[in-house]
Amino acid sequence: MPEGDTVFRTARRLDEALAGADATRFDLRVPQAATIDLTGQPIHGAVSRGKHLLLRVGDSTLHSHLRMDGAWFIYRPGEKWRHPAFKVRAIVGTAERDAVGVDLAEIEVVPTRDEAQLVGYLGPDPLAEDWDPAEAVRRLSADTRSIHVALLDQRNVAGFGNEYAAELLFLRGILPTRPTPEVDAAALIELGVRTIRANRDRSRRTFTGVDRPGQATWVYGRAGKPCRRCGTLIRRGEQGADPTRERITFWCPSCQR
Ligand SMILES: [Zn+2]
Repeated sequence: MPEGDTVFRTARRLDEALAGADATRFDLRVPQAATIDLTGQPIHGAVSRGKHLLLRVGDSTLHSHLRMDGAWFIYRPGEKWRHPAFKVRAIVGTAERDAVGVDLAEIEVVPTRDEAQLVGYLGPDPLAEDWDPAEAVRRLSADTRSIHVALLDQRNVAGFGNEYAAELLFLRGILPTRPTPEVDAAALIELGVRTIRANRDRSRRTFTGVDRPGQATWVYGRAGKPCRRCGTLIRRGEQGADPTRERITFWCPSCQR
């Protein structure tokens, strides 16, 4: 699932492919933005903010979110796409490259000076240059909900999704249902920062140090399988008001208290 590390890498690839050239193609295939055309405008670059992607073109910013299945692909003009055309939501091209966004969510174009309207509510981002650990700890510590829900709330810290929440809580030995005020927020965030920064430059995310499929996580996606530490069967549950896959939790009932 795309989390802050995936979005960071996506922004870097978009930046490398497009920045510095003029847009020769700008095609948004969503009703609310279909008439916007930034062809001919200079592409300044792309950055991530938590799980949000900002591509700056002319005086405007194209915002997108990868949600569950979204991705951006880079092609040479004329190269055959590796995905069906009906899934394409955005194409931004230059003379040298086409960036094609598939299954994207929250596509919007705003004046770049108004980016804060889209992402200003986000908490500190451990992959951003202005990362502020004290502010992240302050926001997380002030949350009285369960730690799993608080860690996923992008207003506290931006970039962690369900997989990070499950794995970080396992590594710290904390049940996902524990009230956040009982948790050492500074230690949890410190581990989260180290982990997401280590994964930032990997092609495949890992929490165990092994990146082979099926071996990269301790608990995430492993319901019913034995804990890698103690052998107890990993449990799966749902938490929070939002009935989406984002709220599914995985934990070891022996290792996490
Ligand atoms: Zn265990």
